[in-house]
Amino acid sequence: MTSEEKYNRSLELLNAYILDNHMRHTAEREMVLQVLTEVKTPTFTTKQVENEVSKLHISLPTLYNCLRLFVSARILYKIDRVSGMQQEHYGWHVDAKNSMIVVCTNCGRTARFVDKAIHNTIYNRKYANFVPAHYAMFVYGQCRACRRLIVKRLQEAAKNRSRSSIE
Ligand SMILES: [Zn+2]
Repeated sequence: MTSEEKYNRSLELLNAYILDNHMRHTAEREMVLQVLTEVKTPTFTTKQVENEVSKLHISLPTLYNCLRLFVSARILYKIDRVSGMQQEHYGWHVDAKNSMIVVCTNCGRTARFVDKAIHNTIYNRKYANFVPAHYAMFVYGQCRACRRLIVKRLQEAAKNRSRSSIE
């Protein structure tokens, strides 16, 4: 999905939600939505959102209201701080069809991946009283750069420990 398609689909959902809930249209919401659709990673952290939106001169409370509204309108989904993640993550409901995403719980980096075998398993299995429409899968861990840092830190700690035991 291109960022333009993402924006158009999201705007449709936003307008429908505003209409259903008798809310006012605000330029800020559309501006925030526009900026978010230009983020290249499949998911983004609250920190990333704050950085992206800082050029719009929108207050943080307004930004967080927008995010909450986008989640309610099923434009975004929120990944809570699970598996040791340090920040909340948001992803696109409108682009979540059959997503498989690896998430680094240390720095928040995300990447999409494809696994035909898992895809087939999900669609070929029988579900009791349920028909699957689509799925989203997250694999949590550490990216290569963070892993390298963690290993380095562990090695330094081990070195310091053996040094102090000699002294
Ligand atoms: Zn990382």
